[in-house]
Amino acid sequence: MLSYSIRQCQNDTCRFRFPVADGDGCGDGCPHCSAATIVIPVERTPAAAISHPAPRHTIALLLDNIRSAYNVGAIFRTADGAGVNRLYLCGITATPEHAKVHKTALGADGRIPWTHNRNALDTAVALKQQGYILWALEETLQAESLYTADLTVPDGRPLLLILGNEKTGVDPAILNLCPRILALPMLGHKNSLNVAVACGIALYHLQFA
Ligand SMILES: [Zn+2]
Repeated sequence: MLSYSIRQCQNDTCRFRFPVADGDGCGDGCPHCSAATIVIPVERTPAAAISHPAPRHTIALLLDNIRSAYNVGAIFRTADGAGVNRLYLCGITATPEHAKVHKTALGADGRIPWTHNRNALDTAVALKQQGYILWALEETLQAESLYTADLTVPDGRPLLLILGNEKTGVDPAILNLCPRILALPMLGHKNSLNVAVACGIALYHLQFA
């Protein structure tokens, strides 16, 4: 049972409303105007995870020089939710030994096996030789939309989804190993999403759509 309070500022021109978890020991004063707050107690039963048939693919992730430790942590957490079975952290990609990764991963870094490899290309070549189908998430002229590409994998072979550096993307030599390059449709002005956000969209579509 998750117990917490909703607080609402008593100042009628403010009405700031916010949650305070039991034991957090704050919230007496309004964060906006410092007036007193009224307390509305709440008891909520945390929802169980939504059940779903087994994920569609056996997936490992290769992170090719992801710069931000927060992105790596977020990717661990998302990968755990989507049933990814291993992460290959390559080049400058931070590992869970870094506090920022560990903190953002919320424990997922202890549930999914990972290895650190200095050379992402060598790793991709070796995994291809082991039978992995290599797909990259990257905007290139050859890229196909995640939503219209044929996402079936021959003979139930394992999939290696490859994500690249926030600025420079996936190593071109690795892209050359990929029979399929996937991209997300983009309506806004920026031509790409945050790598951890894009990873989440792609993994959940590949596994559950
Ligand atoms: Zn207020």
